[in-house]
Amino acid sequence: MLLVILEHEDGALVEAAREALTFGRRLAEKMGEDLEAALIGSDDDALVEAAGQYGAQTVHVAAPDELTDYGPDAYGSIVAQMVESLSPDAVLACGSSRGNEVMAQTAARLDAPFVANALDAMPGADWAITRLQWGGSLLEDVTLDAETPLLTCGLHAVASEPGDEQDPDVEEFDAELEAADLITMVKDRVVQEAGVTLPTAPVVCGGGRGVGSADGFGQLEDLASLLGGRVGCSRAVTNLGWRPHSDQVGQTGTRIAPEIYIASGISGAIQHWVGAMASKHILAINTDREANMVVKADWAVIGDLHEVVPAIIAEIKARRG
Ligand SMILES: Cc1cc2nc3c(=O)[nH]c(=O)nc-3n(C[C@H](O)[C@H](O)[C@H](O)COP(=O)(O)OP(=O)(O)OC[C@H]3O[C@@H](n4cnc5c(N)ncnc54)[C@H](O)[C@@H]3O)c2cc1C
Repeated sequence: MLLVILEHEDGALVEAAREALTFGRRLAEKMGEDLEAALIGSDDDALVEAAGQYGAQTVHVAAPDELTDYGPDAYGSIVAQMVESLSPDAVLACGSSRGNEVMAQTAARLDAPFVANALDAMPGADWAITRLQWGGSLLEDVTLDAETPLLTCGLHAVASEPGDEQDPDVEEFDAELEAADLITMVKDRVVQEAGVTLPTAPVVCGGGRGVGSADGFGQLEDLASLLGGRVGCSRAVTNLGWRPHSDQVGQTGTRIAPEIYIASGISGAIQHWVGAMASKHILAINTDREANMVVKADWAVIGDLHEVVPAIIAEIKARRG
């Protein structure tokens, strides 16, 4: 069987976990194996049900009392114990920071190889895997020879899609944790922002150095709010102190996958592009018709963003009456 590690937050599967289940269901089909899931740190029925919507036939639940929240060592130890006692044919987690951290912990404990951020995987005596490297600017083909292949699937490698719905069996997993496994654990959470977040926003209005100032982002805020989206920016902008790092899109920022990315005054350097390339559509607004972002965009407006963005806002307002 293929075991998928479920990442959850506030009693719900995170979107990356739904992607991992979708990726896992297709991978299990290729392997000719069942899809099963591991739920760690919670025994919430809603999470079990959600895993069933993506085809998980069994959910192994490990919720020891001492595990009060996420802890990388404890999660890694539990997944390693599951590998030893359940003998899955492969283990998959999502390619989030947390998923990669848990699998690295697991791999270290099992002294086994681990392939992070897979885009595609072909099982076999040796597994053939294509994975993202260098923040997504490089695709690497790797061969994995392991008793139990351990992998994560890259964020947005697939779109999440429920399927093969199941009413999963719940198997309690009796995990043993040592004091050392509990040294690092989430103790508190501080909400920095509410509502639509950058990685999940359906519309992102990005601004680059061409916006000209921190105040210049006011018009992008207006556009984002009209479209139910979020403002993003380039690293030039965060370096200039116009926006916080949490707004930065790119290799050293956030990877986005909106329905549309409206990139204003952004040249489209490779380090920015790798964070934006999963966008379904891109509209570039730029004075330079040869800017990389313009060349790669689905649509472009060649012009001064200080004229174009207000014109778009006025047109939306006019059409909405
Ligand atoms: C290791 C490393 C990691 C990096 N990580 C990231 C990252 O995560 N994210 C990221 O964004 N960058 C990253 N960078 C930086 C990246 O290389 C670029 O320097 C940066 O993306 C450029 O930002 P920009 O497009 O806003 O600025 P510029 O490249 O200066 O482009 C400004 C654009 O605005 C246009 N413009 C100017 N005025 C107007 C106007 N009035 N109207 C319309 N268009 C106008 C110009 O034609 C130009 O295309 C990284 C670099 C390194 C070395």
